[in-house]
Amino acid sequence: LKAALFDGKSGLEVGSVPKPVVDEHEVLIRTKVAGICGSDLHIFTGQWAPSGPDGPLILGHELSGVVEDVGERVEGIEAGSLVTIEPNIICGECFFCRTSERTHLCENRKVVGFSPGYGGGFAEYCKAPARNVYPVPEGLDPEAAALAEPVGCAIRGIDNSGLHSGERVVVIGAGPMGLILVQLLHVEGASEIVVADILDHRLRKAEKFGATHTVNTQTQKLEEVVNSQTHGRGADLVFDAVGDPHIVEEAIRLARRGGRVNIFGLSPEDGEARIRPYEIYWKELQITSAFTCPFTIQRAIDLLASGVLNWKELISHRFRLDEIAEAFRTAMKDPSRLKVLVRQ
Ligand SMILES: [Zn+2]
Ligand SMILES: [Zn+2]
Repeated sequence: LKAALFDGKSGLEVGSVPKPVVDEHEVLIRTKVAGICGSDLHIFTGQWAPSGPDGPLILGHELSGVVEDVGERVEGIEAGSLVTIEPNIICGECFFCRTSERTHLCENRKVVGFSPGYGGGFAEYCKAPARNVYPVPEGLDPEAAALAEPVGCAIRGIDNSGLHSGERVVVIGAGPMGLILVQLLHVEGASEIVVADILDHRLRKAEKFGATHTVNTQTQKLEEVVNSQTHGRGADLVFDAVGDPHIVEEAIRLARRGGRVNIFGLSPEDGEARIRPYEIYWKELQITSAFTCPFTIQRAIDLLASGVLNWKELISHRFRLDEIAEAFRTAMKDPSRLKVLVRQ
């Protein structure tokens, strides 16, 4: 079968690999749509390495497809149905899997689209354990279904941020994830949503999705806007939706006393921020984050199916699998990019 192979050095090449073989608990999926995630780009540019790849990797953890075959002991998932996946495969036996709800911190975690043996959606076929496979409601567009994972991550971010209705929120970064956060904040009742980015077309989208103020940080100071909106007190809640140590520094400055910061973006693994512990102490700041999408995929599917989210306008480009190199180039460099999808 055709797959986009990434060997860590020479980039992405479309080649041929054997069709995945499913065990009795797994599901074989014929991929329809797979999205390029920021984390794919981090891997592509060598900023971040998933654990122990020893062969070429097949990326693409945000996907939808049609069930082709199911293992003998799989129940409730039928061949022919449209599904999406929760890419994080947990062991169920380690300390974290047996402790509280934090199974996603599993010490033996494997990820569809990052781990050897579990190639992702940039291939004609992929497989996942049945417990990671989610059938979607009839009529849901395969593109929307492929967005369940990023939406699930954003839901985790909002959950962990402790958002209360009526709060004044700042989102730094209006890429696809920032724009999903803005939509969720809007429907969950933030009273003000200030969105910052360096690209005007993204800020226009943010306004469409519920941003009350937008700031192009090339020409305007975010701190001044936030201060004028909050009588100089700062925001209740600030999201770093960029993934950059400097943004984390700024987020801490922008939060009010008693406020909260959510480090949502994926900073480079060795990135360091300068923070003043005194500021965190004096403000009694709460700093949270959001790692992957534990227990949020079903809610993401339901939100996407409800029509509340404008997922269509998150998508800027669509490519075929043969055009994967161009798709990655676009996702990294094209100023007009938002979510870039690979369709089959
Ligand atoms: Zn992702
Ligand atoms: Zn585990």
